[in-house]
Amino acid sequence: MSHVARERRARIPDHRHCTICGRPVPPQEEVCSPECRKTYEDRLRRERRTRLFLLILYIALLGSLFVIFFLPR
Ligand SMILES: [Zn+2]
Repeated sequence: MSHVARERRARIPDHRHCTICGRPVPPQEEVCSPECRKTYEDRLRRERRTRLFLLILYIALLGSLFVIFFLPR
């Protein structure tokens, strides 16, 4: 049996890319600069608002479906 090398992970240092412009940043960072952070937070806020809006829409839709199907006539 041959020797198996199991240390492939160690060669590439941990890193990620700036969520906004794609430049490499340290693993604990989301973005590379204060400008990108501002853009990133704006985007997060907008996404959260959109998700909340969709959730409300979904609940309203389910609610009206429920009313249509189960309301006694
Ligand atoms: Zn950036």
